[in-house]
Amino acid sequence: MPLVVSPSPQFGNVCDVQIEAGPPTTVRFTADPCGGPEALWFCFTLTWREPPAGAEVELILTNPNNLLGGGGPAATWRPVWRVEHGAWQRLPAATERALPDGRRELSWRLNWDGPTAEVAFCYPYGRDDVAGLIADLGAPWRADTIGVSQGGRPLTRLSNGPGAPEGARPGIYCMARQHAGETSGSWALDGFLRVIAAAGDAGPLVWCVPLANIDSIEQGEYGKDPYPYDLNRAWGSPPYRHETLAIGDDVRRFLRRCRPTLILDWHAPGACETDGVYTFVFPTADNTPDQAAPWRERVAAALADYASPNYHRVADYPSRWTTPSFTRWASQSLGLPAMSIEVPYGMIGGQVLTPDVYREIGRRFAEGVLAGLA
Ligand SMILES: [Zn+2]
Repeated sequence: MPLVVSPSPQFGNVCDVQIEAGPPTTVRFTADPCGGPEALWFCFTLTWREPPAGAEVELILTNPNNLLGGGGPAATWRPVWRVEHGAWQRLPAATERALPDGRRELSWRLNWDGPTAEVAFCYPYGRDDVAGLIADLGAPWRADTIGVSQGGRPLTRLSNGPGAPEGARPGIYCMARQHAGETSGSWALDGFLRVIAAAGDAGPLVWCVPLANIDSIEQGEYGKDPYPYDLNRAWGSPPYRHETLAIGDDVRRFLRRCRPTLILDWHAPGACETDGVYTFVFPTADNTPDQAAPWRERVAAALADYASPNYHRVADYPSRWTTPSFTRWASQSLGLPAMSIEVPYGMIGGQVLTPDVYREIGRRFAEGVLAGLA
C-alpha cells in the first residue's frame, strides 16, 4: 500500500486502521480505548510512500457513537490536521454516511503532496507548550517538580512565587488534564495564566499543575475513566493514585502559604458539545450554599457569549467510582470554593474554536476572577 498510517510520535493514538487504494485512498480508523471503557482522543501520522497523482485521501472515522459524546451531528465533529510539522488547522465539517444497519461513519477529504500529514481529535497541548508558556510568562514564574506520576514521570507545578508561612496573599490552585485528552481545557488555562502573570504582584499567588495525568497524555490515551482508576475520582482518603497523593500534598502546602481563595480544575466535555463553557456545582458536605457561587457569577459575566446558556450544572451524571473528584474534595474536605470548568473542543454556537479562541476564554475567565479579588 502506498500510504502508511501510524500513531504519532507524540500523543499517538489510532486503531483498527483499514486502508484501501483509490482514488481516493480511503483510511478507516477509530480511537483506541487503551484498556478503558471510554475513548475519544486520536492522533496519528499518514505517510505517502509513493504519492499518486492528486494524492487524495478520504479519512473515515468508524463508529463515532462509541466515542464519548460522539453521537452529535457531523458538523460538530472538527478534528485538526497539519502537513509535515506546520501549524495545526481544523478540518472542515464532517460528511456523514448512514450504513444499512444503522451505524454511521464520518469522513473528511485530505489532499497534500506528502510525505506526511498528522490528524488529531483536537489541538494537542503537552510539555513543549508548557515550556513555551513558562518562557513567555517570564520571572517570577517557574516550574518545579512536586513528585512523579504512577508511571514515574515528573509532575510539574508552575507558580508565580513560593508564598510565605501564614501568608495573606490571595491564592488560587489550579489544574488541568486529569483527563488527558481534554486539551481545550489546557489552551484556556494557558490564556488564564497569561492574564494572571500580567497582573504581577497585584495579582493572586497561583500554583498550577498543567498536565496532571502526564502518563496518559504522553501515551496518547484519552484518560477519561481509565482503569484501574480515573485520576479525577482518585481523591478519596487515602489517595487512590500516586498523582493524587503528590498533588494533594502540594495543595496542603499551598494552603499554609497564602490566603486560599479559589480552586480551579480545567476540563473538556463530550465530543460534540457546542453550547459554550460551563461549570459544575458541588454541594458542600453540610449542604450549605455553594461557596463558589459568587465566582461563578463573575466569571459567567466576563465570559459573556462564550458561556453556555446552561452554565451552572450539577455533577449528577453516573460515575464509575464513588470516590470524590478534585473539586468535590477541595469543596467538601478543605472547605474551599472550587470550580470545575468545561471548555468545548470544536465549536461554540456556530464559531469554530482555535487556540486563540480558547486563550480568549481563559483571558475572560481571569478577568472575572481578578474583578472578584479587587
Ligand atoms: Zn474531564
